[in-house]
Amino acid sequence: VLRLEAVRKTYGSAVVLRDVALEVPAHSVTALIGASGSGKSTLLRCANLLEDVDDGAIFLDGEEITDPRIDQDAVRRRIGVVFQAYNLFPHMTVLDNITLAPRRVHKVPRDRAETEARELLDRLGLAGRAGEYPDRLSGGQQQRVAIARAVATRPRLLLLDEVTAALDPELVGEVLAVIRDLKDEGMTMVIATHEMAFARDVADQVCFLDAGVILERGTADRVFGAPAEQRTRDFLSRLT
Ligand code: ATP
Ligand code: MG
Repeated sequence: VLRLEAVRKTYGSAVVLRDVALEVPAHSVTALIGASGSGKSTLLRCANLLEDVDDGAIFLDGEEITDPRIDQDAVRRRIGVVFQAYNLFPHMTVLDNITLAPRRVHKVPRDRAETEARELLDRLGLAGRAGEYPDRLSGGQQQRVAIARAVATRPRLLLLDEVTAALDPELVGEVLAVIRDLKDEGMTMVIATHEMAFARDVADQVCFLDAGVILERGTADRVFGAPAEQRTRDFLSRLT
């Protein structure tokens, strides 16, 4: 679904991504792990065309999306994103937050958009919350609504950046459970996370980023169970 080839990204003189190659097959989950500043968020922002790459190419379903002639809005409509700070529209109900893009951007009729949104809320354990405003919900509930909003448009790919980082520890589990359900339904996802146990549990592929380089990649069991690189071992051992 997503492929990065020799992607390079700089901010001024700082090289933030260096020769990054990544292949994300359909229905798979890729976890990006690595120290703060290693480039995880930058990689996700490049994949969503929120940042231009300096070199290399990114493909979505075989189409080069880093081609300057591409319709960037059309590309973004095929990618769902959820960030650390749940950016729900505060003046809209949960239902309106979720149905906005399907109705406005994808021209889904209101009835159908709302029916689908309620089904989604049911599945995410938020039945009965459709009419609430975001500030009446807990952080974990808000983040689940943000995920519902991102998947309401049936994206080809879902990018999740530290979606549990801003949550109280007791709320993390409910959000991770939702992500696991999406995986079970076949959603293709790339997840930047500091939740190593979750990455190990949910990811098909784990990439360890170190100073903008994918230093090591492999199955979750391989990278966590038998890291080949000393720097990966150091990173993982610092966490425990
Ligand atoms: P974290 O785990 O803390 O979220 P990260 O792996 O997501 O870290 P990035 O946010 O991708 O790291 O940042 C990678 C590097 O790029 C950092 O050194 C950061 O300072 C730099 N950087 C990120 N965004 C910008 C920007 N807009 N301008 C300049 N430098 C930036
Ligand atoms: Mg980040």
